[in-house]
Amino acid sequence: MSQTSSTPNSGAERDSALRNLPAVDEILRQPSILELNELHSHPKILGWVRQAVARVRQSILDGQVPTAGSFVPTIVDTVSELVRDDSRRGLQPVINATGILLHTNLGRAPLAAKAVRHMSQVANYTNLELDLSSGKRSRRGARACELLAELAGADDAVVVNNCAASTILVLQAIAAGREVIISRGQLVEIGGGFRLPEVFEAAGVTLREIGTTNRTYLRDYEHALGEHTGAIIRVHRSNFSQSGFVTEPDTRELVCLKRPSDVPVIDDLGSGLVTDLRPVGIHEPTVQDSLRAGADLCLFSGDKLFGGPQCGIIVGKTAWIERVRKHPLMRALRTDKLTLAALEATAEIHLSGKAFDELPLYKMLATPIEVVRARCEALVARIPAHKATRIGVEACVSQIGGGSLPGVEVPSFAVCIAPDSSEVLARLLRQSAPAVLARQSESQVLLDLRTVAEEQLDSLDSRIRDSLERARAE
Ligand SMILES: *Cc1c(COP(=O)(O)O)cnc(C)c1O
Repeated sequence: MSQTSSTPNSGAERDSALRNLPAVDEILRQPSILELNELHSHPKILGWVRQAVARVRQSILDGQVPTAGSFVPTIVDTVSELVRDDSRRGLQPVINATGILLHTNLGRAPLAAKAVRHMSQVANYTNLELDLSSGKRSRRGARACELLAELAGADDAVVVNNCAASTILVLQAIAAGREVIISRGQLVEIGGGFRLPEVFEAAGVTLREIGTTNRTYLRDYEHALGEHTGAIIRVHRSNFSQSGFVTEPDTRELVCLKRPSDVPVIDDLGSGLVTDLRPVGIHEPTVQDSLRAGADLCLFSGDKLFGGPQCGIIVGKTAWIERVRKHPLMRALRTDKLTLAALEATAEIHLSGKAFDELPLYKMLATPIEVVRARCEALVARIPAHKATRIGVEACVSQIGGGSLPGVEVPSFAVCIAPDSSEVLARLLRQSAPAVLARQSESQVLLDLRTVAEEQLDSLDSRIRDSLERARAE
């Protein structure tokens, strides 16, 4: 009989087991390992085999594996596991059952079908920098910028890789070597360690902090304005909220400050709402509001509430946009044809008033709660009952996420599963294909179906059943 897990092996058994470990060459000759050559390079396979042998060796030393019999099947299985882990590291579709609509780790806004089509249409050769009427060179992204300017009610627009890039570019192009005035209440970390004071430093401007964390008055701005001032920036609190004893001037008040003509008011809006969300009960100022209030430049992300691809959008007055566009950094931050294609399509959807019909983000927000509940009930009905696992439907709250609308809660429903171990079930769901991302508490796995499209339900259903079966076997 072979010895198993908890019993420590005797020194002699361990030594003999270690002598029995097959050579790497022997593993490389196994049929299932030879098959890997179809898809993977030899050095990579060799690396996996060495790693698998080392793992089994360690298990022997730890007394965790039988010391008798052949180790070949165990090592081959370990190699398959390593190959699977490796392939999971590539980008792949994910079913988002977290209920977080803009999940930065899951790629933020899902794109409209039209945007995806447009991206694939231009994936090969396209007139990226060519005017087909004249045959002359044209400006990259000119069409997308026209649409964005029209949408925002701005003179002009510029697009870069993300909103962080737009902040750095704008500050550098407009206020390098000078002071930029900002309220202490807005000196935030946006996420991923992106802290505004460091952004200012990277952009080569001097931070001129004014006011206090909770209260900044117009007179604080007035006192700070001087010959060294390069710009006034207002940063939207898009990833946290403050309430209570709080004051800060709004954009209109800042614009009315007496200031030299070369000191613009910059509104860093972050989440960038362009189609009003009031129909779903969300009150949030729009990009259009900010420009109407007189902001010289507005910055926002393409993949937050705009519902498009990752990019940073800068809209505003001609003279300022021209300065930004001509800055040498622009060349380093410019977007590619795929982003621009998705952006054109998304802007067109907003312009035609079809956001609630065509943008997945808007559709998810507008899905009536009864529909989400019915989805949950239909899904639960398809999962076979099992005495050891309680499965039910519960009310929950979806979040916007992605550093947008921090205080806003969207009522929703979730399928909740109470397995032996929520940790194990969540892991198996995550490791299935397509991967399923759920919310996990100590005793439950929650699948919020507001963020799961109708057409993903079949796939979700089989992933859940499969994972439950595996979880019970583990
Ligand atoms: C999210 C956010 C950013 C950063 O946007 P990215 O597109 O992620 O670079 C900048 N400013 C504000 C106010 C934000 O909310």
